[in-house]
Amino acid sequence: MKRLALLPILLVVTFLWPLQSALADTNVAGSATASASYTSSWESVAAINDGIDPPSSNDTVNRRWGTWPNTGSQWAELTWTSAQGLRSADVYFFDDGGGVRVPSSWKLQYWTGSAYADISASYPVAANTYNKVSFTQVSTTRLRVVLQSGQGSVGLLEVRAFAADAPPSGSGWNPPGNLVTPLNEVWQHQESTYPNLYGFRNYGWDQVMANGGSINYCVRWDTGATVTAAQRDQIHATLARQFKKWMDLMAGHNNWPYTNVPLKVVGWAVRDRAQLQWNDNSVDIYVGNIRENAPQCSEPCGRFFNQNGTYPNCPGGPSHHYDMSLWLTAGFGGGAGGDWGQRIGSEYYMSNLNTDNVHILLHEMGHSFGLDDFYDWTPTGVGGFLMKAGSAAQITDFDAWMFRDWWRHLKSRYGR
Ligand SMILES: [Zn+2]
Repeated sequence: MKRLALLPILLVVTFLWPLQSALADTNVAGSATASASYTSSWESVAAINDGIDPPSSNDTVNRRWGTWPNTGSQWAELTWTSAQGLRSADVYFFDDGGGVRVPSSWKLQYWTGSAYADISASYPVAANTYNKVSFTQVSTTRLRVVLQSGQGSVGLLEVRAFAADAPPSGSGWNPPGNLVTPLNEVWQHQESTYPNLYGFRNYGWDQVMANGGSINYCVRWDTGATVTAAQRDQIHATLARQFKKWMDLMAGHNNWPYTNVPLKVVGWAVRDRAQLQWNDNSVDIYVGNIRENAPQCSEPCGRFFNQNGTYPNCPGGPSHHYDMSLWLTAGFGGGAGGDWGQRIGSEYYMSNLNTDNVHILLHEMGHSFGLDDFYDWTPTGVGGFLMKAGSAAQITDFDAWMFRDWWRHLKSRYGR
């Protein structure tokens, strides 16, 4: 992309993996009530959350949960009186080498309020240790461990269920301890990769702050398709929802001054006015201004072309300026992002208008706020995350803290 200015582009995103971020959170199992599909009369299901770390899988000292002589699919679960934000669990199997053995396989399920849903993760099976599982955070009142028996009946000695720490608030820099090292690695990597990191003045941060807490977009409709007024409004709403996911990470954090950063689409650029099937004047319309072989909104109104933040030649005046472009190109795979905005496939965008996480757009928005790609390295101790293309389909905790780290390093330029 010629107008990249600073930031790299994304290649094609193909695979979506569950998140694998190991997080040192709070074990909330002790506040739950344990129950099970079946419990041998001499065992106790209360063993699974009594807080006692087993000496081994063949624990002959502490109480245990076991299902002998029953086999097949067996479960034990934890029930809380209020919803917990769970995102990892440790499970210690009971195995006496005789009638009770480690399972052939197992999984976690959570209660959605009306049914049990499988938790997508990788599930190790090992004796004499905690089997650790991380997963995309779920909010639930019940966590179920489902065991499929193997060479005998099954059982558990202890289950730990970890809830996310309280969200950041107030002033200061307070990332979870396990993210401090990888965050420092990322920042040092960026500093060494981009010599003009601190001189650059057109990050999304600069744009939002220059507007006093809002952002304006113009749509580059780089396709021959038509758009109805209803589709236009959906396109705007989807863009605003995705942008809000990033901005909500900042509310109340480290002197970020806004609780809400509204997004407004002020214009559309198109090859042929007849493609736009509305007659109202709710947005400015730019016809036939072809740049990079694509329709472009008026340069005098664009932040990229007026980085001092004044728009003397924008026909509608400064309120009609746009900070970023949403560039939707027919047949475009993957995406690109930078201070100028985001470019993604028009078909992808239109087929994801009702998707919760339009992950390619979210990734490219990350670039617009300075976040880097991770094609050739991974920070220590973190698994999948949005900015490592293909490894996550939503903003993870690590993405959130990288995002906040940009604010930490730039905020002094805004007197914060
Ligand atoms: Zn990228």
